[in-house]
Amino acid sequence: PELFDSIRAHQEQGYRAIRVQTGVPTLKAIYGIAAQGADVGDATVRYDHEPARRGAKPVEEDWDTRAYLNHLPGVFEAVRNEFGPDLPLLHDGHHRMTPIQAARLGKDLEPYDLFWLEDCTPAENQEALRLVRQHTTTPLAIGEIFNTVWDFKDIIRDQLIDYVRGAVTHMGGISPLKKTLDYAAMYQIKSGMHGPTDISPVGMAAAMHLGLSIHNFGIQEYMKHGARTDQVFEQSFTWTDGYLHPGDKPGLGVELNVDEAGKYPYEQAYLPYNRLLDGTVHDW
Ligand SMILES: [Mg+2]
Repeated sequence: PELFDSIRAHQEQGYRAIRVQTGVPTLKAIYGIAAQGADVGDATVRYDHEPARRGAKPVEEDWDTRAYLNHLPGVFEAVRNEFGPDLPLLHDGHHRMTPIQAARLGKDLEPYDLFWLEDCTPAENQEALRLVRQHTTTPLAIGEIFNTVWDFKDIIRDQLIDYVRGAVTHMGGISPLKKTLDYAAMYQIKSGMHGPTDISPVGMAAAMHLGLSIHNFGIQEYMKHGARTDQVFEQSFTWTDGYLHPGDKPGLGVELNVDEAGKYPYEQAYLPYNRLLDGTVHDW
């Protein structure tokens, strides 16, 4: 019921496609799951770890791929039954699966018509996607940790993905990512640019402008920044009814308010790390 409530709350805010992440029975905490009862409009409480928890050390979490793979198809079946066939649903595997596990998940989720399955395997091994692709018609998206067009070259040319998840902030700027997306267009592969709060309002504005300039726009990930971030970064762009609008300021339309930024000194923060049940460290 809490998951349904969270999806409904996002729909009421205007989101037209929803990335569904859920807790897994027997596991205590999982990165990327909204805190229970969180106000989805406030970035400071939306995720337990978003921004990453502040402190001297990263937070340890637990992980069990078998429990996850057994649980997730039932979640999507329930969400489809509740929300019907039209709502675009996405899911992020956070690079946690082996190729054969990801292939199984893609297959198991086929009846629920995902918009995409994201980061199903560790992104460094692009060959893994070939095995996943051979086994499932669930669309695949990857690339939020890629840094150059060379990271995308083979998986675009061999049509192993459906969405480019690159971020302007990680790919060397607007031009390199635009070239990558133009290359992807030749293979009917679309944009699905990375858009969490940590790319900053500057990164979000750049992604939006780039999305407006290409012919193979697919979808834009979007998370609202918190009130403090909005004070530091004065933004021309707006988000209404699920659509970003650039506003009318020149350039990217984002101004850094240095005086405001000075009120928030640097705080050490980490992403969490996972341990399997036997104690082995695993992808978070
Ligand atoms: Mg991801």
